[in-house]
Amino acid sequence: MAVLVTGGAGYIGSHTVQYLQDRDEEIIVVDNLQSGYHDAVKVKAFYSIDLRNEQELDRVFKEHHISGVIHFAANSLVGESMEKPYEYYHNNVFGMMTLLKVMKDHGTNKIVFSSTAATYGEPKESPITENFPLNPTNPYGETKLAMEKMMKWFDRGYGIRYVSLRYFNAAGAHYSGLIGEAHEPETHLIPLILQVPLGKRKKVYIFGDDYDTKDGTCIRDYIHVMDLASAHGKAMDYLRKGNPSEVFNLGNGKGYSVKEVINTARVITDHWIPAEVEQRRPGDPAVLVASSRKAKEILGWNPRYEELGTIIEDAWRWHKNNPDGY
Ligand code: UDP
Repeated sequence: MAVLVTGGAGYIGSHTVQYLQDRDEEIIVVDNLQSGYHDAVKVKAFYSIDLRNEQELDRVFKEHHISGVIHFAANSLVGESMEKPYEYYHNNVFGMMTLLKVMKDHGTNKIVFSSTAATYGEPKESPITENFPLNPTNPYGETKLAMEKMMKWFDRGYGIRYVSLRYFNAAGAHYSGLIGEAHEPETHLIPLILQVPLGKRKKVYIFGDDYDTKDGTCIRDYIHVMDLASAHGKAMDYLRKGNPSEVFNLGNGKGYSVKEVINTARVITDHWIPAEVEQRRPGDPAVLVASSRKAKEILGWNPRYEELGTIIEDAWRWHKNNPDGY
């Protein structure tokens, strides 16, 4: 009985594959390599196909006995989604529809889904719990919410149970330094900061220092990618026990400001990282911090790498060893 990981060659997907292999699960990866890297995963069964190709996906389900799916394959950049809503709807929503159709055809009845805090939009309060209103402010969050709703109706109609995991800010890398974050172009704060000591950029920009926060910069909840990986394992265990569909936030519960992230990176890299204040980035809420109580209580999830220093140290090990990514 194998687990199919879609998007398993991407950042969070590849770390989850590593985690599941370490506990001896049989893994099949499907990834169209649009933004993933084949070198990020070591699996015998790797299919470089697009989820929207129903015939090819069907063949994968015929060749293997797939008991459950962990679904990462999707476009995931907020800014890009504003420019290319059609691509986001087509890849994310149609991709999910094809996947669920093929699961239904083959009687695969468990799916763990990579969702996002972007489904909440810009909540006024913090920490965010799962019952907050869902008001995405961009096509990325909107398509992820549409995918969650599709799973709800496929559960009703066909008995496919799901766990949706709404992540906050994924960061860090596997402690081996062999796999990590590699985006092209890079838009995320921690890898951008680390490009300065790598000699790839001269300085980092702080998007606004006039927010209503302790130092005026935005506060985010950074969560170690290996803690995300273990949550996917726990979510699959939860479904295997026959539990009902559920939604969980995954965060660290601790918020860090942009300035705190830069200062921590300065200490860890032993490098003066010049930072310049820029305009606010449109659509950035001041504070986004998760309550992950529900995931801890119901899934029995135990995040292990909660310190910002550990997260940046692990990210730095990967970037230093692999300055050009894969
Ligand atoms: N940010 C920044 N400079 C950058 C990139 C990001 O100040 O070059 C800020 C951004 O405004 C946000 C935080 O860092 O408050 C995290 O941004 P990121 O893009 O990493 O993740 P997001 O919160 O958008 O998912």
